[in-house]
Amino acid sequence: MTEPTHDEAHGGALGTRLNWLRAAVLGANDGIVSTAGLVVGVAGATDSRTALLTAGLAGLLAGSMSMAAGEYVSVSTQRDSEKAALAMERRELREQPELELEELTGLLRQRGLSQEVAREAAEQLTARDALRAHARVELGIDPDQLTNPWHAAWASFLAFTVGALLPLLAIVLPPAAWRLPVTVVCVLAALVLTGWSSARLGAADPRRAVLRNVAGGALAMGVTYVAGTLLGAAGG
Ligand SMILES: [Zn+2]
Repeated sequence: MTEPTHDEAHGGALGTRLNWLRAAVLGANDGIVSTAGLVVGVAGATDSRTALLTAGLAGLLAGSMSMAAGEYVSVSTQRDSEKAALAMERRELREQPELELEELTGLLRQRGLSQEVAREAAEQLTARDALRAHARVELGIDPDQLTNPWHAAWASFLAFTVGALLPLLAIVLPPAAWRLPVTVVCVLAALVLTGWSSARLGAADPRRAVLRNVAGGALAMGVTYVAGTLLGAAGG
């Protein structure tokens, strides 16, 4: 019984790592699109580098903090419910161990084991670490690897910030005449990369993902640029 458990542990850890990586790519993608829309819109209204830098930086900070706070709340809630489920499991194991052994046997049978093998496996798993066995087989969670909400919040903050820096630097560094073309090219190229990576990490079709992602970014920049130009013309 040690081999399958070993493999499962590796598969689980790899799956978790891929999920984190995919979340990071999607967070960076958010940072790119929302900040690009923001700075391109402001560039439609004004040539002022200070205005562009202020808008871009404010967008970066607001976006990354909002992502971090949202992630913190969502992961905390998930962790609370996982802890509650584990506490209930612990109580059931204490109060009705025989029922729990039957439950585990039944769950292992559903996964394709024969009654005898399932019973034997359930007994061994229960003898080794009953709570962990129930957590993994019944609840699908690893009691030692609950996601830390602070880690999740930091990861979102960093991912969004990295993404947001690209359009911010692309719009403030070049001379005025080059700002928009440089930003549009950099942003669309980065969206090809993030769209492709997130599709590959999620085992989806990369071409469609890239097309959707680039179209979404182009639309965001187009809409805010038109809005910025109209407002700039009305104000000037
Ligand atoms: Zn149970």
